[in-house]
Amino acid sequence: MRFPATLQEFQNQFPDDDSCWQALRRARWPRGFRCPRCRCPESSWIATRALEQCSRCRYQCSVTAGTVFHGTRVTLRVWFWAIFFLGRHKKGISALQFQRDTGLGSYQTAWTLLHKLRSALAPRSDALLTGLVEVDETYVGGAEVGRRGGREVLNKSIVIAAVEQRTHTAGRARLQVIDGVTFEHDLGPFVTGVIDVDRTVVRTDGFAAYRPLNRAGVRHERCVQGLGKARAKEVLPWAHGTFGNLKSWLRGTFHGVGHKHLQRYLDEFTYRFDRRWEEDQLGGFVLQRAARAKPLPYRRLVAEPVG
Ligand SMILES: [Zn+2]
Repeated sequence: MRFPATLQEFQNQFPDDDSCWQALRRARWPRGFRCPRCRCPESSWIATRALEQCSRCRYQCSVTAGTVFHGTRVTLRVWFWAIFFLGRHKKGISALQFQRDTGLGSYQTAWTLLHKLRSALAPRSDALLTGLVEVDETYVGGAEVGRRGGREVLNKSIVIAAVEQRTHTAGRARLQVIDGVTFEHDLGPFVTGVIDVDRTVVRTDGFAAYRPLNRAGVRHERCVQGLGKARAKEVLPWAHGTFGNLKSWLRGTFHGVGHKHLQRYLDEFTYRFDRRWEEDQLGGFVLQRAARAKPLPYRRLVAEPVG
C-alpha cells in the first residue's frame, strides 16, 4: 500500500477511522486473512470490535492483538497521523508538536503513541552490515522535557555507531546506547552483533579498547590518529557525520532526550537513515512495521531500562 504523501492525499485516503482499519488489516495480513485455527481463507470483518471472524469455525482474531496498536484507546486515525508525521517529516516530530498539531488532550498520550511506533523501528537483528564498516563512539546528553512536562537534566550517555563506508556515501548504520567502553561488555558484543563477520572489515580509531577485535575473529583496521578533529574526520568520515546529524536532530526536534528512552530515538534515526533513498515510502514502511511489531505496554515503556 502506498501511504499518503501529502495532507490532501491523507484526507482522501483516510477520511475516517474505518478506512484506517481497512489499511491496518491489509498491513497485518498482506496476503489476506487466513484462520490461524483451521486455515480457512474466508472471513468476515466485525467493524464494531475490530475483529476478523473465520467463516468456517467462527474463530475471532483481533487485528490489533500482537501489534503496537494493541489495547489502544486512541482512535486509529490519530495513530495514522503519527505515522504520517514520522514518515513524512525528515526530522520526525516531538510529542509536544504532535499534540499541538492534532489537538490531542494529553501530552502523555502523544508521547506514548510516538514511542510505541519507535519501538517498532529497531533494525532487524538479521540485517547485518558488510564491507568496510566504521565504528566509533560518542557522548550524547542534555535535557529533555519530561513526561510530566517538567525539564529534567540528564547525564550524558555513550552511543556507539557502526556505519558502512561506501564509495562517496554511507551505507546503513547501527546505533546503540552502551553502559561503558569495555571491550568485553560493550564494544565487542555490539560490533560482533551488527556485522557479518566474514564479509566485513571494521575500521576504528586508535582507541585501545578495540584491540581485542582481531582475537574475536573480526578483520580490524586500527587507524592511529594524529592530533585534532580533522584527522578523525578523515579516518571515520561517516561515523563522525552520523554523530553530528544525530546530535543536531536530537537537539533540533526534541531539545535533547534522556538516557532512559534514548535507544528508541536511535532506532528512529537509524530507520530513517537506512531508508533515506526511499523517503516517499517511509509512511507505508512504518505502518507495516507497526502492524507486525510486538506490543509495548505503557508500564513497560516507562519502566524499561534501555541500552
Ligand atoms: Zn477457522
